[in-house]
Amino acid sequence: MIGKIILASSNRGKIAEFKDYLRDFEVLSYEEVIEPFEIEEYGKSFKENAIIKSRAVFDRLNDKNAIVLSDDSGISVPLLNGIPGIYSARFAGKEANAQKNLELLVQKLKENGIEKTDAFYTAAIAISTEKGDFSVHGWMYGKVTDNPKGNNGFGYDPMFIPQGFEKTLGELEANVKEKFSHRSRALRLALILLKTLTKDKR
Ligand code: IMP
Repeated sequence: MIGKIILASSNRGKIAEFKDYLRDFEVLSYEEVIEPFEIEEYGKSFKENAIIKSRAVFDRLNDKNAIVLSDDSGISVPLLNGIPGIYSARFAGKEANAQKNLELLVQKLKENGIEKTDAFYTAAIAISTEKGDFSVHGWMYGKVTDNPKGNNGFGYDPMFIPQGFEKTLGELEANVKEKFSHRSRALRLALILLKTLTKDKR
């Protein structure tokens, strides 16, 4: 183990993904350390929202040695003015869930007579420490289709065809996505930061 990292997330899927990727570190959800609390994501970008989350948890922890990591992600369709973008998780409103969000984006494509168009996923990862707030990004480009297929992945994956492929992420094996996903790309950069930030704590 080369250091301890606190994740500013209660999302089990994300926590499992991060624990797997950051296996050289001791990774804990902030809920294992302090009482969970509501964090309002009022930022205007993925980066701002990621920093809002990691900073809020760092401040609550009251531990100057803590290293807190968060991520904020979503999908954007440029032809439809970038929707749903930072609103990806809550696109279908208060009662939103992954299925309703996907159905709404399919509906928006159909309403505009679009069968397939360019789209991209963004992941912003923020790291907050006593030294300040740091952030990195990763992107995955491709197309969205109004004809979703497959059950692999999650969220908008059944309607997203990554660049260089004919099939959606819903149809492709998980290990294909993980090789070049927005989150994997951002994590690769985050790892460099984490190794540097934990160096003087070893
Ligand atoms: P967050 O938890 O606030 O960062 O919201 C992320 C949202 O973006 C998810 O709820 C999904 O709707 C969407 N999203 C982000 N990454 C992916 C992905 O890899 N596949 C499918 N949907 C994703």
